[in-house]
Amino acid sequence: MKRRNFIKKASATGLGLVAVSSTFMSCDETKEDKKIVSPISEVIKPLVIATWKTDLAVETAAAVLEKGGTALEAVEQGCRIEEANEKGQSVGKGGLPDRDGDVTLDACIMNEKGDYGAVLGVKNIKHVISVARKVMEATPHVMLVGVGAEKFALSQGFKRENLLTEASKKAWEKWKIKSEYKPIINIENHDTIGMLAIDKKGNISGACTTSGLAYKMAGRVGDSPIIGGGLFVDNEIGGASATGLGEEVLKTVGSFLIVELMRQGKSPQEACEEAIGRIVNKPGKDFTNFQVGYIAVNKQGQTGAYSIHEWFSYNIYKNKKNQNIKSDYFNKV
Ligand code: ASP
Repeated sequence: MKRRNFIKKASATGLGLVAVSSTFMSCDETKEDKKIVSPISEVIKPLVIATWKTDLAVETAAAVLEKGGTALEAVEQGCRIEEANEKGQSVGKGGLPDRDGDVTLDACIMNEKGDYGAVLGVKNIKHVISVARKVMEATPHVMLVGVGAEKFALSQGFKRENLLTEASKKAWEKWKIKSEYKPIINIENHDTIGMLAIDKKGNISGACTTSGLAYKMAGRVGDSPIIGGGLFVDNEIGGASATGLGEEVLKTVGSFLIVELMRQGKSPQEACEEAIGRIVNKPGKDFTNFQVGYIAVNKQGQTGAYSIHEWFSYNIYKNKKNQNIKSDYFNKV
């Protein structure tokens, strides 16, 4: 999940976000033909799409689907890979902590029935995506937060463990020297895995898991565990997921917006582009200092992805091939 530093690179070239559009693939369509929605008789399945360079997570989800597993099982298993990856400092164990030094995790999941489960601000439990699934399946609620979520996880047999690795502790200690906390969040401080899958039956599910913004205020929650923000799935239409500055995604209800735009006939690519447009076209909005990226899939298996700035990428598994693809983006010079 290596796409940090783009602001650094950007400032090195003035606005500096150099367009190399010929290398971009808008998933299923090029700029020229994107208005033409060709009739698709065959649904592309199974299919997995996930934010950032998440090869192993997507491969894991795809293996579940190829064996005939459900989209729900696939997205859960895929996300667990990143949660267990201690080197990834933005999801699960090893995630960068809040400004008080506590790693707190957010996650949510949606199935093909439109059911939803989420946990927010959970400490000491690594596989929060599985806790979110338990909330969805084993409680009458949709969201559990903080201590209550942890208590519930323990009651379900999840293991309590310290999520702060030495590397993340060191990074936090270094950050503490200046303790520069800006409400406009630096682009380097976030990453999230959002994943959408279509199984062999054609059902769609999605999942999203994160440690949120590094050095966030204690108690801060972003878009990732919020239905319609970091994730939305409607099995009749498609699904969408987000990464980046959660506050901006939440203010535009980004993932829900994308699914609704697809319902109105937009392709996943067009819908992602419009959702980014809703953020960057706000009067007076200075988007130079933050990133948002979206992925989407529709019921036919067409996909889309778009971000504000360069360096957003996503993994996609379709036709038995797993690839990392650089997303097209808005801010070209
Ligand atoms: N969207 C996440 C949040 O705001 C962070 C990220 O994707 O990097 O918590």
